[in-house]
Amino acid sequence: MQLLEERIRRDGKVYDGDVLKVDSFLNHQIDVGFLCTLGKEFYRLYRDSGVNKILTVEASGIGVACLTAQYFGCPVVFAKKSKTSNIGTDVWSAAAHSYTHGTDHTLVVSKSYLGAGDRVLILDDFLANGCAAKAMLALCAQAGAQVVGAGIVIEKAYQKGGDDLRALGLRVESLARVASMSPTEGIRFCD
Ligand code: 5GP
Repeated sequence: MQLLEERIRRDGKVYDGDVLKVDSFLNHQIDVGFLCTLGKEFYRLYRDSGVNKILTVEASGIGVACLTAQYFGCPVVFAKKSKTSNIGTDVWSAAAHSYTHGTDHTLVVSKSYLGAGDRVLILDDFLANGCAAKAMLALCAQAGAQVVGAGIVIEKAYQKGGDDLRALGLRVESLARVASMSPTEGIRFCD
């Protein structure tokens, strides 16, 4: 998506450790109008898929998920990060590794908000190694919910997450795909 690539080039900052910061519009300060534009694009891509729920992970996915959900007219469920694996029986749970924090945690979603009959669009701000998305897939599998696909704002295509998810047969739609990035060379997008 041209508009998004331009915004990333303008406002994105590349840090050592393969981290792209887009805090000024996506996941710290939120440019609501701009994220609505991204939401409309996700809606265009998935409007025929019968989505009745959007699933994301706290905290950085929540903004774009909510602004997308308004076009689908569906609720957003965000998986909560729990430090303990000792959790109750009223939740679905899956282990995940945090890319940015380097820590392990358990993602939990109440059984009240995800179940059989749900048609889920997984949404996240970034796709890197695919841990967050795979944990969300596991939550949906436990719940018996059907996943129609994943919507990703920025896929770092040189990392393995996108390939892994597509190899599982999952539809993955990324609005911007980074081919390479470095603090010195800047950002290059896939064609
Ligand atoms: P994955 O689980 O696919 O390895 O990483 C995706 C998650 O890690 C996303 O939910 C996102 O919050 C975070 N993440 C991964 N790469 C980046 C990055 O380059 N910048 C930022 N800001 N977050 C990232």
